[in-house]
Amino acid sequence: MIINECPKCGCNDIEKIRSFMQWGKKWERVRCNHCGKTFSEASPEVPVEAVEYIRVRCPYCDSVETRVYKTLKPVRYHKCDSCQKAFKSVESCESVATPPNK
Ligand SMILES: [Zn+2]
Ligand SMILES: [Zn+2]
Repeated sequence: MIINECPKCGCNDIEKIRSFMQWGKKWERVRCNHCGKTFSEASPEVPVEAVEYIRVRCPYCDSVETRVYKTLKPVRYHKCDSCQKAFKSVESCESVATPPNK
């Protein structure tokens, strides 16, 4: 969400003062030139700096002995060491393993 008007007075004469990092997110400090109120908002273009690596389970045999053999962001291609089947996952907050074809 991008601030384009003051949440207090609804005026769109607002100005970004500075941006800062907090809780792994980029925030914008914004000031209203009309009422002088300052507020902050999470920047929409949040740079992803680190992705928590969650071991992906094979959707066929439920093994965690899988390896990534190719990454085409945001999709990762995995191969299961146990059953030798290939599958892919999409990079997100929770790594979701999806079978290649239903
Ligand atoms: Zn205002
Ligand atoms: Zn498997």
